[in-house]
Amino acid sequence: MAEIVVRGGMGHAFVVSKGSRFRVMDVEGKQVSDLVAFLRDDPSERFSPGNTRKLNGRLKISREGVLYSTKCRPLLRITEDTVGEHDFLFSSCSAYDYRVRFGLRMDHNSCLGILAGVLAPYGISESMIPDPFNIFQRTLIRPDWALETVEPLSKPGDFVEFRAEADCLVALTACPQDQNPCNGWTITDVKVISE
Ligand SMILES: [Zn+2]
Repeated sequence: MAEIVVRGGMGHAFVVSKGSRFRVMDVEGKQVSDLVAFLRDDPSERFSPGNTRKLNGRLKISREGVLYSTKCRPLLRITEDTVGEHDFLFSSCSAYDYRVRFGLRMDHNSCLGILAGVLAPYGISESMIPDPFNIFQRTLIRPDWALETVEPLSKPGDFVEFRAEADCLVALTACPQDQNPCNGWTITDVKVISE
């Protein structure tokens, strides 16, 4: 077992082999982690939230849910999930959206920027990064179809376990969003535990 602590506002990228498992743990609770995945041998094939909604037939997935690629290939399967509330409707927070959504004038640390930083050594540029699977992010869908981001349900030690269904490059963050309840207003660490 290998454990990597991803500090709040930081990220991590790693390769997983088909059949191996890893867990993403919320260390202190209420901390979102944006996860993206690419086919290791051809990163142009990457996680697709649209295909994942279509092929699971659901807006939210938990245990036995599958994260699909742009070519409808299973990349990751959820094998354990102690929370059951995740989001794949929202894009990553980005320097662009902090300006537009929150009126910030200075660049704000963002999941898109963090992912671009940890994926650069693998030759993946920002424009290649797909919208993410937002582990622990809680999105309410109102009767009038409005979307609202509220505090996660995750408690200290909660985790999601994934099994790789293909050889993948995975990258994730400890989301730095502090302008809405996405992370319970406090940015904390996540832990990656792999076989
Ligand atoms: Zn974020």
